[in-house]
Amino acid sequence: MKIHEYQAKQLLAKYGVPTPKGKVATTVEEAKAVSREIDSFPMVVKAQVHVGGRGKAGGVKLAQSHEEVAEHAAAILGMDIKGITVRKVLIEPGIDIQQEIYLGVILDRATQRPVIMACAEGGVEIEELAKTKPDAILKLGIPPTYGLRPHHINEVATFLKIPKSALADFRAILKGLIEAFYATDGSLAEINPLVITGSGHAIACDAKFNFDDNALYKHPEVSEMRDDGEEEPLEVEAREKGINYVKLDGKIGCIVNGAGLAMGTMDIVKHYGGEPANFLDIGGGAKSEQVAQALQLITSDPNVNTIFFNIFGGIVRCDLVAEGILTALKTLPDFNYPIVIRLSGTNDEKAREMLKDTDLIIAPTMSEGAQKAVEISHRAA
Ligand code: GDP
Ligand code: MN
Repeated sequence: MKIHEYQAKQLLAKYGVPTPKGKVATTVEEAKAVSREIDSFPMVVKAQVHVGGRGKAGGVKLAQSHEEVAEHAAAILGMDIKGITVRKVLIEPGIDIQQEIYLGVILDRATQRPVIMACAEGGVEIEELAKTKPDAILKLGIPPTYGLRPHHINEVATFLKIPKSALADFRAILKGLIEAFYATDGSLAEINPLVITGSGHAIACDAKFNFDDNALYKHPEVSEMRDDGEEEPLEVEAREKGINYVKLDGKIGCIVNGAGLAMGTMDIVKHYGGEPANFLDIGGGAKSEQVAQALQLITSDPNVNTIFFNIFGGIVRCDLVAEGILTALKTLPDFNYPIVIRLSGTNDEKAREMLKDTDLIIAPTMSEGAQKAVEISHRAA
């Protein structure tokens, strides 16, 4: 799960990270009120959307007067940044930037620990720098046995050549970042740029925080920050129905029981030259109601032209799934997508017998099913 910059800054501030004292506005009128409240220039107006690169897209603007704050708010609210419409702006006192630093922490699966990443040349070009000058980036794993220690902080500060005047701030920033990351089960947290100001202090100028979805149940205060307006509408709908769904860009809608098999299904569809439209795990039960919901969900995506069911009857019996599909299709009278179905495992013969007088295309194996689906999808395109 992702949150907005202003929320990430509020979270970090709770853990002692210095941040600008800003406020969010959703209308130009609100922006004017915030501007009068802050009343110090330059002021910065920043688009709040769940994508990076807002600066380059024109979503971060400095203002020298109340009028200019209002103008920028009017220009940024409603702006489209990488396909997302801006509905909120963050207005803050501007920072006097001397140096822009990158500081982040990610959960690294390979080394099984949080890894601090730091680079003295932060700002908007960090992805580029990671490719061209990888040595400019420090990667420091935090040992799970004893956690973040002062010597880690010193090592990062030394690498970044943090000036003496900013050391106390920097220590508070790195400590707060890591504490917030642990406390909320973060998966990635970034301060980019972390700014060394003209007066020699350090402050978080931008902030980004992603969380481990599987740990959200432990953190209601984090879940509350979710902004449904920023998310894929179909994924929001799926979550409400308890279906495990991730939208992708292809044409073959996949309905699968089990997360591992769903991953395998996407791989095999791609292997045969097709593009999956989604990841979807209907879980172990595959009741008709779930099947109907899954079909509805998938076909709400206008890209989809073919459906591929890939069902392995382990705990669930294939005949029950077949029954579920037949019942679901009865509740969707206008449904006219080609459906390829692979059923194998417990009671698969019985299931195929039940489906044989329908329009469903039955495939005996997963790879034949995938090939068929790809073929049909290509023909329909
Ligand atoms: P991003 O492009 O989405 O990462 O948005 P950022 O918040 O990182 O802003 C992009 C860039 O705008 C920063 O790297 C800064 O150079 C600049 N910027 C942001 N806030 C301020 C500010 O308060 N003062 C000044 N002078 N520049 C700012
Ligand atoms: Mn940034």
